[in-house]
Amino acid sequence: MHRLLLCALLAAAPLAAQPRPFDLVIAGGRVIDPESGLDGIRWIGVTAGRITAISASPLRGRETLDAKGQIVAPGFIDLHAHGQQIAAARMQAFDGVTTALELEAGTLPVGKAYDAAAREGRPINYGFSAAWVFGRIAEKEQMEPDGAISYFQEAQRRTGWQHTIATADETRRIVSRVEQGLKEGALGIGILAGYAPGSGRKEHYEIAKLAKTWNVPTFTHVRHLSVIEPQSSFEAFQELVALAASTGAHMHISHLNSNSTRDIPAIAELIRGAQQRGLKITTEAYPYAAGSTVVGAEIFRGNWRERMGGAKASDLELAGVPFSDSTLTQAQAKTPGEWVVIHFMRPETSAADQAFLDQSVLFPGGAIASDGMPWTLQGKTILDDVWPLPTDAFAHPRSAGTFSRFLRDYVRERRKVELREGLRKVSLIPAQILEQSVPQMRQKGRLQVGKDADIVVFDLATFRDRATFTAPNATSVGMKHVVVNGVPVIRDAELIRSALPGKAIRRSVK
Ligand SMILES: [Zn+2]
Repeated sequence: MHRLLLCALLAAAPLAAQPRPFDLVIAGGRVIDPESGLDGIRWIGVTAGRITAISASPLRGRETLDAKGQIVAPGFIDLHAHGQQIAAARMQAFDGVTTALELEAGTLPVGKAYDAAAREGRPINYGFSAAWVFGRIAEKEQMEPDGAISYFQEAQRRTGWQHTIATADETRRIVSRVEQGLKEGALGIGILAGYAPGSGRKEHYEIAKLAKTWNVPTFTHVRHLSVIEPQSSFEAFQELVALAASTGAHMHISHLNSNSTRDIPAIAELIRGAQQRGLKITTEAYPYAAGSTVVGAEIFRGNWRERMGGAKASDLELAGVPFSDSTLTQAQAKTPGEWVVIHFMRPETSAADQAFLDQSVLFPGGAIASDGMPWTLQGKTILDDVWPLPTDAFAHPRSAGTFSRFLRDYVRERRKVELREGLRKVSLIPAQILEQSVPQMRQKGRLQVGKDADIVVFDLATFRDRATFTAPNATSVGMKHVVVNGVPVIRDAELIRSALPGKAIRRSVK
């Protein structure tokens, strides 16, 4: 009887019935999925934030985004985004980023940071790791963290946390603060070892064991930056390899380029060897030969010029203006928390330096990640919903142009990597780095039916970065549409300011 009823219902349905339209259709673009290998002209149907159809023939949607002549790819995933404010996220959206995670530094208290972002709303997806260094500063300086990056800047005025060994009790308390962050849903553990290079080896061992217990990755800015031994970059990477080997923890290396600099040939071999022997080590890099950090950072103390292979004070810049020896000493004393740019190599004048940078950026299996910074105005972080940013707003240009720069320079202009592999490095690989411990990431980095509708539509022939060291406040151009959880945040190259569809990427709260 049931079968009869079904037949009757089917018979009653008009033969030419139109299927229900999709919420959104991305029409007729060259759809590339780095996982399945799909590369063809397709229509993508989106319903309730998910991809529900991928078709070689036209689909009908309540809203349609024209993608003819454009590349359609999974939204880019940035594992290293310190700029977690609305304005910083919008700058990244123009660069194709649909998920920007603060993993290298992280934050504490983790729940507070998630709550603040959710209250304000974000155009793209966001998330945090638990900050080991915040836990260390809290214990050593009796300064309670508040979930903001300004806490770390403020800590540059204190000197009790960078070069002191923690007692057994202090270590227990630091570990417990970090563990509390994991209980609150942090995506892993951020380890800014390079900012506290005198912290104990055993403390790092305890943190790596904690990561293994919780089955989450660590994201490490390694302890040293030096091309000469001892206390070299090579030695710092060896520590990370030892931690992966002895604890079984997944150790992710932040910005391979800026910690390896000209020693990348030896360091790349070290990492590859560890990976080949089955250790869980992953990495990322950004396509610039200049970093950005606080002027009071430990890497600019002592014989740092020699350790960076013959650097000068003028390799450091504040808002495009190079330092001299005396202005640098002054800034370190007076405004140690101020963000500056450091040119660690000079690829514009040295082919050898370009080759070193390329080796980091193209490290097999490595992700592209921006290390994007908060935008500042006269040294103060822009926290409010300001758009467009004032012309003198400042940040390292990677905060605006990392992904377009990588695709322009490495894929289109110098053809160092095929398009599909290039897209894999900005979407699928970062998703895979996280997905064992963060189930949400299994839904990202792919264009497949059932996956999240985080989608970018861009013109490969014109997609490019415009941000420079002297004029960083320039969005990338060539990104036609950017869709986050099924909602356009950029349509026809225009920002939709009211669109805040970004969701928290978070592990379950214990
Ligand atoms: Zn770093």
